[in-house]
Amino acid sequence: MNQRYRCWAEIDLPALRENLLWIRHRVGPGVKILTVVKADAYGHGLKQIAAFLMQSGTDVFGVANLAEAQAIRSVGRGWPILMLGACLPDETEDAVRDAIMPTLSSEAEARRFSEAARRQKTTVEAHVKVDTGMGRLGMDRTNAVELITRISRLKGLQIQGIFTHYAAAEGDAAFTRSQRHAFEQIVSKLQKRGVRPPLIHASNSAGFLHESPGIFNLVRPGLLVYGVIPPGKRRSRAPMDGAIHPVLSFTCRVGFVKAIPKGFSVGYGRTFVARKPMTLATLTAGYGDGYPRSASNKAEVLIQGRRCPVVGTITMDQTMVDVSALKKVEPGDEAVLIGRQGEAAIHAEELASVAGTVPWEIFTGISYRVPRVYRGGHAA
Ligand SMILES: *Cc1c(COP(=O)(O)O)cnc(C)c1O
Repeated sequence: MNQRYRCWAEIDLPALRENLLWIRHRVGPGVKILTVVKADAYGHGLKQIAAFLMQSGTDVFGVANLAEAQAIRSVGRGWPILMLGACLPDETEDAVRDAIMPTLSSEAEARRFSEAARRQKTTVEAHVKVDTGMGRLGMDRTNAVELITRISRLKGLQIQGIFTHYAAAEGDAAFTRSQRHAFEQIVSKLQKRGVRPPLIHASNSAGFLHESPGIFNLVRPGLLVYGVIPPGKRRSRAPMDGAIHPVLSFTCRVGFVKAIPKGFSVGYGRTFVARKPMTLATLTAGYGDGYPRSASNKAEVLIQGRRCPVVGTITMDQTMVDVSALKKVEPGDEAVLIGRQGEAAIHAEELASVAGTVPWEIFTGISYRVPRVYRGGHAA
């Protein structure tokens, strides 16, 4: 079906919808879902994924920057969009004009938005962020109550939400608890002063899986929506069997098949030497497509439904694999880098693990050279 491509990523839209519905079911009524679609929807294709999520019932979108927010606006008007990254001073007017909700981490940022709102004779809806231990964005927790109280009085500004971000929700229960406790205290002190942002949130995918709902009425899943459980040592609170389905598969083709004698070396730097005569397949994908070079001599791919080890260093456009154990392999055959073939599967987590990275980086590393092919659903 995809035989005209050398290398492609297939996006399973029904799987995406099922993942979102499962999250919806798990959070129950009264809790909103902000679907994170930054970095081209984790490499799945921003506009198509945004359009599909609008039909599938997300409540809010989370993006990293203004360009991503504007791409969503071009697909459908009116959806609430929270910009999770800092808004640069020179982006403020545009963000206000496009009604993108900023993340406010300081009084200076808040004043900038308040002034822009007044200039444009409008009201800016914003979320304030508290740094409880991530050390990235957000205001200092020791004076957050004072600061947010002051910000809440600024003209042209309406505080729609208050949030924080977990640093290690997938692995460190105690630290997550301390972050959560600090945040809940701030929210409660604000409420006593009459400052009540309607949306209260903290959970990324790992927080959603491992933490109880508590005072929160919005979750911010990213990776989980794309069908991948964040790797980490904490166990989920609820059974996960069959609940989440991988959305993306990544496939290339066999470009060439060759036999090499014992003692022959393979690839740049000669990192692999054949200990016996072998049959190799040269694949049509390399690190220029996002197949990570750090997985050289470690990753496996699927051909004929069987695992074939990568041999030698992965090159920019091509990768060599050992197909000695297989029946006749021919140029044009499919080789699955991430995904299923027959009974076998290679998950993004596995490739990330052998490459010494995380699934987020694997997804966002799949390059512009790889066409995204959408299956089962109407996408933009
Ligand atoms: C990226 C991001 C998320 C989503 O994280 P996942 O681990 O992919 O679920 C949530 N919140 C913020 C602030 C983020 O930057």
